[in-house]
Amino acid sequence: MASASLLLALWLLLFLANHVWETVLDVLNLGHGRSRPPDELGDRLDGATHARMRTYQRARGLVGLPSRWTRVAVTVALVVSGGLGWLHDLLHGLGLSPYLHGLLFIGALSTASTLIGLPFGLYRVFGIERRFGFNTMTWRTLLADLIKGTALGIVLGVPLLLAVFVLVDRGGELWWLYAFALVGAFQLMVSAVYPTLIAPIFNKFTPLPPSSLRERLETLATRLDFRVRDLQVMDGSRRSRHSNAYFAGLGRAKRVVLFDTLVEQLDEGQLAAVLAHEIGHQKRRHVSKRLGVSLLLLLVAFWVLGRLLHFDPLYQALGFASSGDGTAALLVVVQLALPALLFVFNPLLSGWSRRQEFDADRFAAAAMAGHEEMTGALLQLARDNLSDTAPHPWYSAYHYSHPPLVERLRALRTFEAPLPGQPPVA
Ligand SMILES: [Zn+2]
Repeated sequence: MASASLLLALWLLLFLANHVWETVLDVLNLGHGRSRPPDELGDRLDGATHARMRTYQRARGLVGLPSRWTRVAVTVALVVSGGLGWLHDLLHGLGLSPYLHGLLFIGALSTASTLIGLPFGLYRVFGIERRFGFNTMTWRTLLADLIKGTALGIVLGVPLLLAVFVLVDRGGELWWLYAFALVGAFQLMVSAVYPTLIAPIFNKFTPLPPSSLRERLETLATRLDFRVRDLQVMDGSRRSRHSNAYFAGLGRAKRVVLFDTLVEQLDEGQLAAVLAHEIGHQKRRHVSKRLGVSLLLLLVAFWVLGRLLHFDPLYQALGFASSGDGTAALLVVVQLALPALLFVFNPLLSGWSRRQEFDADRFAAAAMAGHEEMTGALLQLARDNLSDTAPHPWYSAYHYSHPPLVERLRALRTFEAPLPGQPPVA
């Protein structure tokens, strides 16, 4: 029992350390002095837009604090009071089969987690996003999203969880390795069918009509020796004025998806630069490297699950009776414990991702024979999305998957020279 209380104390310490540290970063970033646009942006960002960016970022940052600490308080209360074990036993009293019991337990916790986040999410959408003119979502769309999302979670999640439960019971010593293979294959399968089967449940996609834009993007892809399976425009404006673009699909031919808001906000040259940046991610194998790393992390997580399956003190520390409480309890235990151990690696992963963004920008600058269009695109996107142009350096080092605007523009200016082995293009 002593080791259980020691483990509980250790978990509390790490869990709170994680959130206190991130709150320190939030507060530093909120107070980061930016009364004027950063010098580098000079005449390319007017004072009024800069002020609006700052008010918007502050409003978003401020709602993050109560949202985080409500979640922390509920989680700590649930663990320390033994609430997890209580809920587990309560559902056990229904006399269901162990698998159904496990599904219900995880379902109850994820429903509770969704409900805790809901008021803050609603305030973000209908308070902040509406105030700054971004929100275009109606209550109807929101409700439909919630229903579709839940249904999709059940359709995809329940069979996967059941399969993991069965593997734990029947897979022998190496169950964790089989479960990793299954979940990994499942993730690949979902990303393969995402563009054709899942994304259309939430949005409408229409092929980019024949136009000078389409011609320009196709010519660029051909020139960079990149196969585009199709060019689609997505009705992102159905939910918000924020803009984006992404590639979807596995294998050689990709679908390029442009938000309708992006097509509205950028000119043709800037859209071409955005496409060149995305092609840069593919050509430099960033996407497959990220996939490799996420599979590796998944393998580590399952290895940890395998080691902990019968480690009673950890179950007891977090409020369960023993490891006899089953696989669902194990999944919850690990979900509570892993983030508290892994948050220290956050800056490494963010830093890696930011290096890839610089690399893709460099590729785009070479492909566009100069940085002007990429620079113009980034500035326009920052204006239209009211981005934080110069966050607190600790905050961005820890959280940002993309370098802050000022750093990106500074780097772009040094990327004039064509890439080695690639002829300058007109
Ligand atoms: Zn990128």
